[in-house]
Amino acid sequence: MPTGLKVLIKHQAIEKEVARLARAIRHDYLEKNPLLIGILKGSFIFMADLVRKIDMPLEVDFIRLSSYAGGIQSSGSIKLLSRLNQPVEGRHILVVEDIIDTGLTTAYLIKYLKRKRPASVRLCALTEKPSRRKTDVKIDYIGFTVPDKFIVGYGIDWNEKYRNLVDICYIE
Ligand code: 5GP
Repeated sequence: MPTGLKVLIKHQAIEKEVARLARAIRHDYLEKNPLLIGILKGSFIFMADLVRKIDMPLEVDFIRLSSYAGGIQSSGSIKLLSRLNQPVEGRHILVVEDIIDTGLTTAYLIKYLKRKRPASVRLCALTEKPSRRKTDVKIDYIGFTVPDKFIVGYGIDWNEKYRNLVDICYIE
């Protein structure tokens, strides 16, 4: 473990919670062939683990959005850095995010997706920091509520580092 990092959620607990989320999603989307849209890059490990635990037909796409310029403060201005490969119209969409902080990133993406007339749009977040919310975005599937600390690991970075940590940690 690099110095200055403390474990917040161990990988065994993450695995258990991802399995619970997968069961809930499978229950709600059975026969609906949902399109899961992960927000890059932070959601890549969560998405990989989640979809392998959802035993039913589904599709996966990713989108890149940017609101953080490599630091630990949100700039508040969100940019779409890539487009989706699959059409959204008429599809049941589940947005998959690593962490909801202010909520501005996901609120922006959900608004963008709704303009494309999907059959439904829901949100699944592995972690959320409720104390920092700036918009009332509804999270349909929540993994962990975390304190107001800067977290890394399990796909989540600090300046592109620490994504490969198996636990969710925070920087002291
Ligand atoms: P929001 O728009 O909800 O404020 O921010 C969402 C995005 O901010 C996340 O996808 C993530 O990239 C980044 N973010 C928010 N909190 C943290 C954090 O504690 N650690 C890291 N590494 N990124 C964070």
